Amino acid sequence: MRYLSFPYREIPEAAQRREVAEGVYWLRFSLPFALDHINLWLLADGEGWAIVDTGYGNETTRELWQQTFAQALEGRPITRIIVTHYHPDHIGQAAWLGQTWDAPVLITQGELALAQKLRGIPDELIQTEGAAFFQYHGLDAERARLMTENGNRYRNAVTQLPESVEILRDGDMLEIGGHQWRIVGGNGHSPEHACLYREQDQVLISGDQVLPTISSNVSVRMDNANDDPLSDFLDSLQRLGQLPEETLVLPAHGLPFKGLRGRTNALIGHHERQLARVVAACEQAPQSAADLLPVLFRPNLTPHELHFAMGESLSHLNYLERRGQLKRQEVEGVVRFVTE
Ligand SMILES: [Zn+2]
Repeated sequence: MRYLSFPYREIPEAAQRREVAEGVYWLRFSLPFALDHINLWLLADGEGWAIVDTGYGNETTRELWQQTFAQALEGRPITRIIVTHYHPDHIGQAAWLGQTWDAPVLITQGELALAQKLRGIPDELIQTEGAAFFQYHGLDAERARLMTENGNRYRNAVTQLPESVEILRDGDMLEIGGHQWRIVGGNGHSPEHACLYREQDQVLISGDQVLPTISSNVSVRMDNANDDPLSDFLDSLQRLGQLPEETLVLPAHGLPFKGLRGRTNALIGHHERQLARVVAACEQAPQSAADLLPVLFRPNLTPHELHFAMGESLSHLNYLERRGQLKRQEVEGVVRFVTE
């Protein structure tokens, strides 16, 4: 990845902050997954701190926050909580932080609405209709059962949502610590993702909309099965890539980097290659989303990873179907895609 440079390679210790731009500090929290950390961003805001993203909704994260309050935050208050998107590692502690500091939570309408909707899905519905959905897309009954037997995992990872919020919109300007930050909307990884951009010195807090070393998951969810999030994601990458080349990108996972346009182009290229693989496979024989897993992803995915992989396989199929490059066929309760 010669097109990227990493100006800050020294990862902050637990509960410590590291300055990466004027008044902008890097915090790193652990996550209980293969993706083992998330970066949160602390912005000096008068007597206190604005925080961007909040960590996973578990007890370990709250304990780390308690240490962080005393150490990185030096006992100064959190003034506002900005949530980039609905995923549990980003929104997990938003309600708790808001209550602890009596501070507003800022989030887009699209992200809040999806978080509320997902928390409301009953366990039994996931165990029955969720499992049926994955079988309809070609998974065997046993793997479909393993993926859904725990019911609503989102509700376990986001134990509460804030009771009231301030709604963010694309293009909104936020003044934080005397600096202007613009909300830059993105789509495809989540419905209405918020990045924050400080034009004065070209700093972008990118959330999961663009990451330096991994490709953000772009998934079709069963509650929106005909959606085409890959189109949205590719459009958003094109737009983000228009920001100045000198922009310092502060991602939610991995190291801060420069080389935004090179990275957005590489990610677009990755999806174009994945789309070509799907078309080539469908030219040989009809393919379900599950049939395509070995074509698109490494083998031996855990049930947790299978959710992302099935969703992403479907996002490529829906993208191609919408453009008339593939057609769906249903045979004996399984849907497969073929070229015309
Ligand atoms: Zn995410």
